[in-house]
Amino acid sequence: MSATRTAVVTGASSGIGAATARALAGDGWTVVCAARRVDRIRELASEIDGVAAELDVTDPTSVRAFVDDVPQEVSLLVNNAGGAFGQEPVAEADLGQWERMYATNVIGATRVTQALLPRLIANTGQIVFVTSTAADGPYEGGAGYCGAKAAERMVAGAMRLELVDQPVRVHDVAPGMVRTEEFALTRYDGDAERAAKVYEGVAEPLVAEDVAETIRWIASLPRHVDIDRLTVRPRAQAAQHKVSRQG
Ligand code: NAP
Repeated sequence: MSATRTAVVTGASSGIGAATARALAGDGWTVVCAARRVDRIRELASEIDGVAAELDVTDPTSVRAFVDDVPQEVSLLVNNAGGAFGQEPVAEADLGQWERMYATNVIGATRVTQALLPRLIANTGQIVFVTSTAADGPYEGGAGYCGAKAAERMVAGAMRLELVDQPVRVHDVAPGMVRTEEFALTRYDGDAERAAKVYEGVAEPLVAEDVAETIRWIASLPRHVDIDRLTVRPRAQAAQHKVSRQG
């Protein structure tokens, strides 16, 4: 493995994470591709000449074992593992799903960050949190996911303040609507019809590569340039509720 420019991407087995691993590799990074589905990350790692490492961000034992395998010289962590489960009104919400969303998007991202932070500081590194425009405010049925992503944003924001005198940058990348294969399917528990409706009539939702490109760009900037937060949406989505749908 290269002695310089080593990145960790969590949730690299699909969607934005996989695209980010490819984009970073294209820019010369050696990428540690992390996720629970090892078959997928092994395939990706062999494609991009990276490293596959099993990781469940919700499991402290898994995170400890994972961190032992990450090279000391790591200088970029992309906290991408996460997602939404369910979209029911608060009155009917399954709180088990809320616990999973918080465990993954908030506590999981923080757990991995804590474990790698000393190395990221030592290597003048960067931490990207892939939050969401869901963190900007609530929408109907979004309390659990919006809350989790807002909490993840607070972790990024607090860390930027806490580490101002340390050589590490903390970034919040907030995508709007991104058509990935699994995000909506996971949210609606495999209901493909409901998942398809999310993107129905939207001319061009973002694709994973669009978000990956913003992360690649952030990681390419000089050490004194800190992109605090980057919001990226499809042109057809002016705000969470303002989406142009045709047909
Ligand atoms: P995705 O295709 O469903 O990918 C989610 C990734 O997270 C998968 O690789 C999954 O891998 C990994 N993951 C889930 N739980 C994990 C765990 N406990 N430990 C380790 N990895 C875990 O979704 P996506 O659309 O690419 O979304 C990626 C990120 O962007 C998420 O944080 C999501 O909230 C955020 N986002 C998405 C959108 C959108 O519209 N798609 C918009 C804004 C923000 P395994 O199952 O193999 O572990």
